[in-house]
Amino acid sequence: MHTERSREILRILERAAADHLVWLMKVHGALMFPDKIEVPQTSLDPLLSQLCGENCGKAELLQPLVAAQAQMQERAEVLLAGAAERGVDPTAYQAFMAAVDSYAREARRIEAHFHRLLVETDPLTGVWNRQGMIRDLRREWARSLRTGHPACVALADLDHFKVVNDTYGHSAGDRVLCMAARFFQRRLRPYDMVYRYGGEEFLFCLPDIDCATARRVLDRLRALMARLPVVLEGGERVTITCSIGVAPLAPAPSVQAAIDAADRALYAAKAAGRNCVAVAPTGESDPDVFPSGGHFPTPVERMAFRR
Ligand code: GH3
Ligand code: MG
Ligand code: MG
Repeated sequence: MHTERSREILRILERAAADHLVWLMKVHGALMFPDKIEVPQTSLDPLLSQLCGENCGKAELLQPLVAAQAQMQERAEVLLAGAAERGVDPTAYQAFMAAVDSYAREARRIEAHFHRLLVETDPLTGVWNRQGMIRDLRREWARSLRTGHPACVALADLDHFKVVNDTYGHSAGDRVLCMAARFFQRRLRPYDMVYRYGGEEFLFCLPDIDCATARRVLDRLRALMARLPVVLEGGERVTITCSIGVAPLAPAPSVQAAIDAADRALYAAKAAGRNCVAVAPTGESDPDVFPSGGHFPTPVERMAFRR
């Protein structure tokens, strides 16, 4: 999972930092006591190749660290070779330490990246949590205002989720939440952002789409979710539905105003019978619910009525 992978990479980076320090001390030892201290070829290659070789999709991110490491290594060799013949050359030493500094900066940058991934990922579902959500929405809001391209925010809430917990237990509920999160993430566009907004609520940031189109797309998503049951560990098949509220992100006066509008639309979708999408009204009118009219008892809801 996303979170586990980030943790593992952070552990590797931590080990690499410790090994790097030992290597650096040995380089200095070898400069001062060339006969007594031998410098290992490199302390970093196995760890870096482990990170890059596993094809974790992070090659672009790691490449500058690999390059900085190669340069540091090369300058260490020049420095040590020169020192063995003529003593330590200040220019070569400065060049080496500048490369050490670049390497450390790259390592910190990558560490910060994975640390952020870890902090901003919901550990249960693997989608983003609320930590960086407002920042991302503000960026999208500003971009939409600047470019004039539309953007939407949507809130999706699983219908009668409490019944799933009450009927099958909390860990089955957790599994359903994970499946729902994965479903949203896979079915939306790659540049849409999915956040776990609360317990069984998800927020979508949808760039470059107007509300009318978003409504159609989200309604297809909603209908598909209702057709694809989640299989629990015991083999039971549970049909899950969701209600969705959509609102324009810009030109809303603020990100919070857009989220509030999506929340009101979600409330309207629930009130209209659930398993539907509602769009925030533009003026004084009521939220536009789609598909409109009627009550849609979901399989879980029907089960709730039977109990
Ligand atoms: P509605 O259709 O009105 O949204 O009904 P609901 O039952 O989905 O809503 P309600 O707010 O009554 O219940 C939400 C439930 O979600 C209650 C809570 O225990 C459950 N929940 C919240 N977070 C988690 C979680 O992380 N795991 C599990 N298994 N359940 C959770
Ligand atoms: Mg719910
Ligand atoms: Mg809820």
